[in-house]
Order: sequence, then structure tokens, then C-alpha cells
Amino acid sequence: MKETIGQKLQKLNIKAKFQEPLSKYTTLRIGGPAEYYIEVRTVDQFRETMEIAKENNVSVFILGWGSNLLVADEVFEGFVVRLKGDFEKMVFEDSVDECIVTAGAGVRLPFLLNRSINDGYSGFEPLAGIPGTVGGALVINAGGKWGTISDCVIDVKVSDFSGDIKVLRKKDITFGYRTSSLEGLIMLEAKFRINKSSKDKVLKKVTGYLKKRAETQPIGTYNAGSIFKNPGKKSAAKLIDECGLKGLKIGGVQVSEKHANFIVNNGKGTADDVHKLISEIKNKVKEKFGISLELEIKLIK
Ligand SMILES: Cc1cc2nc3c(=O)[nH]c(=O)nc-3n(C[C@H](O)[C@H](O)[C@H](O)COP(=O)(O)OP(=O)(O)OC[C@H]3O[C@@H](n4cnc5c(N)ncnc54)[C@H](O)[C@@H]3O)c2cc1C
Repeated sequence: MKETIGQKLQKLNIKAKFQEPLSKYTTLRIGGPAEYYIEVRTVDQFRETMEIAKENNVSVFILGWGSNLLVADEVFEGFVVRLKGDFEKMVFEDSVDECIVTAGAGVRLPFLLNRSINDGYSGFEPLAGIPGTVGGALVINAGGKWGTISDCVIDVKVSDFSGDIKVLRKKDITFGYRTSSLEGLIMLEAKFRINKSSKDKVLKKVTGYLKKRAETQPIGTYNAGSIFKNPGKKSAAKLIDECGLKGLKIGGVQVSEKHANFIVNNGKGTADDVHKLISEIKNKVKEKFGISLELEIKLIK
């Protein structure tokens, strides 16, 4: 008898759950079930999983911390793969005035930042308050007005969806505003260069950035960060605010009262509610300013 996908994964000791609700893994707490939710812990398991997906013609989605996503309410048919185990490791190699950091794509940015603060290195401060993984952050060049993750990148180890792995030097990658040429590839690991500073100095900077975020963002709510990219030099939040949309509610979700470019979920919201609210915002901004807002979050169907 032909082995099922589940049996193959089990035989290879790859952790898989079936019909696993993705709302558990997104910061917006929205998302229907994944047909297969898979955690790979080694490069071999990653390769084997990609091989099984290919053999069975199954689509694959790589999930990081789920902090930049709107996942549909319906079943995701295919593999939702998370990089755990070896992909959550980071190594700091100190020298006199700099440090080379090798971080797996599954490393959470706050861990990377905390370690660099403790060791007295400067470079990752612009990532303060961003709840992503190294992989998710590289793909969209996460950051803000204080800098982006690409500022410290030396190279990135990537794979294509066939499991072919190679290392891309920074000069071979294009990083832009919430975009990069890494889209369409799978990040496995990255090397960064950060510079010697002092713990106090770095901590002071990070504390300042976090304070600013706490003043302006709805921290502690279910949200996915900024919904729209800033159009050119204009602020999406300001445009939405000037349309009088703060607090606008549809179903279980609403435009944050604190930051107009955030949508918050009261715990009962659905992806459908968010889609409706997004349409409403886009229409109002287009009507009033003639500007078409572009999504920053990724939509997963
Ligand atoms: C409160 C809050 C504040 C935020 N502030 C900021 C901010 O200031 N600046 C900013 O840039 N972003 C911000 N974000 C958005 C988000 O945290 C970042 O975009 C983050 O980098 C997303 O990483 P992730 O691991 O959560 O990716 P996910 O949301 O899991 O995935 C996002 C995309 O990245 C892809 N991806 C994830 N991992 C990999 C991988 N290993 N290989 C290939 N593709 C991968 C996914 O397939 C998906 O397409 C904020 C979010 C929240 C909730």
C-alpha cells in the first residue's frame, strides 16, 4: 500500500499536526486550519519535507512568527512549515571591535537583540519591538526610520522550493522599503556584522525606541503591525486618521484608536472582517486623497 504523507513524515520523525488552527501562530490571532502544520528541526528534515511536498505536488508556506500576516479563515491546503530546532540557534563570534553573528532563520528578533545588548554590541537596535523571526524580517527588510535588518547583513543562506541551498552575499540581494529580492526564496540562516559599543549605550537607545512604540502603538493587543505601506513620503496612518477612520469597527476587528495603520482584533474577529475593513480604508483614502494604499501585510489564502 502507498505510504501517506503523514506516514512519511512520521517515519522521518518530523513533527506534524493535521488541521492545526493557524490563529494560534499569528499575532492577529486569525487564521483557519493548515492541512499540515510541520515543524522542521534540522536542514535534513527541511530537505526531506520539501522533497515530500514536491513528490505529492503540495504547496508549501513558510511561517515565521506570524506577525506580518493575514491568514484566511478557510483551510490552507498544503504544508505550513516552521523552522525550529537548529534554525533557532545563534552564534556570536566576538573580535576586538566587532562581532559576526550567525543566526538561524527561526531565531526571534528580540532574542537576537537581547543577546547583542548583553554583549555590548550595536547594530540590531532598529529591530527593537518588532516581533518577527530573522527569516521573516529579511524577506521584507524589516525595520523603520532608525534602520533596517539589511544594515547589518553579510550574507544569507537560502533554499528554493526544491531544497537547493546556496549562500547569497549582500551585494547579490536588493533590499528596499519593506521588500527584498529574497521574496520567493526560503531563508535558512544569515550572517550579520555588529559593532562593539557599550551595554549602557545600546540599552539606552533600545529603551528610547521601545518607549516611542509604546506611546504610539496598541501594544498588548492582537494585531499584525502596520497594515499598509507608507505611500512615498506620506504616512499611511495620517491619511487614514484624516479620513476619520480611527475606531471604525467591522465584526470583531477595528482600526486602532491609538495608531490608524493598525487593525486590532478583539479575539472574535475573522479574516473576512479584516478584508472588509481593509477595503473600507482603501476606498476612503482613495476617495479623499486619490492615493491607492498598498498592503504591507502578506495575505495567505
Ligand atoms: C506590534 C508589531 C509591530 C511591528 N513593527 C514593525 C516595524 O516596525 N517594522 C517592520 O518592518 N515590521 C514590523 N512589524 C511586522 C513584522 O513583525 C515584521 O514584518 C516581521 O519581520 C515579520 O516576521 P515574521 O517572522 O513574523 O514573519 P511572518 O509574519 O511569519 O511571515 C511574513 C512573510 O515572511 C515569510 N517568511 C517568514 N519566514 C520566512 C523564511 N524563513 N523564509 C522565507 N520566507 C519567510 C512568510 O512566508 C510570509 O510571506 C510589526 C508587527 C507587529 C505585530
